[in-house]
Amino acid sequence: METQISDPATSVDSDATFLPGPILLIGPPGAGKGTQAKNVMATWQIPQVSTGDLLRANVSAGTALGVQAKAIMGRGELVSDDLVNRMVAERLKEPDCVRGYILDGFPRTIGQAEWLDRHLAERSGGLPVVAVRLKVDYTHLVRRITGRRNCPTCGSIYNVYLHPPKDDERCDLDGTPLVRRSDDTEEVFTERLRTYEAQTAPVAAHYRAQNRLEDLDGDQPVDAVTAGILAAVKRLRS
Ligand code: AMP
Repeated sequence: METQISDPATSVDSDATFLPGPILLIGPPGAGKGTQAKNVMATWQIPQVSTGDLLRANVSAGTALGVQAKAIMGRGELVSDDLVNRMVAERLKEPDCVRGYILDGFPRTIGQAEWLDRHLAERSGGLPVVAVRLKVDYTHLVRRITGRRNCPTCGSIYNVYLHPPKDDERCDLDGTPLVRRSDDTEEVFTERLRTYEAQTAPVAAHYRAQNRLEDLDGDQPVDAVTAGILAAVKRLRS
């Protein structure tokens, strides 16, 4: 079994021949998927494919998709499988996805998972998805969500309670004023969590049934969670 783990914050994983393939990070809102995706991305040099980020970019750009998605996202509900699947199919065609990618926030329904499995099986030589589920205590999720602030310039994620920026509400890296996502309120969080339990928890069961999912304690320090994800993916790929 492969157990070698790099320091995720500072180095590229030493096993340059390792092919990560498609990796799914699954977990409730506030579990740390975005933060962890960025660490795995830095370690293995593969992109993060976040459907939430792609949808927010469409909302900001005022595309037809963004117009349709905006109200749904504001209520904490899910955008239709068809729209999201098509958006993901376009993103996965990009050349940076060839060695693998980290799926953050997708698939979020059984319909999306079945579509993705078919889509990957149709690509010759493509690896199937392996999944890591982050488990986090409910009370911690609320603080992570209501305290979360993002840098609109570089995408860095902070938390005013747990990981505050050095300068009040500005990004440590580029000084940009941080913003709060409009759906990061306690009210919308409650709905997003309900949606997760009803629609996304079955996706974890789907991959578990195929022995392609490991659970991880997402309440550990950030670097320990990253190391756990890297090790889990290597085990699932061995
Ligand atoms: P996230 O940034 O992953 O928390 O996503 C923010 C919002 O975007 C969600 O609450 C949904 O409204 C929408 N969304 C993101 N990913 C998906 C998906 N895979 N399927 C449907 N809706 C999604």
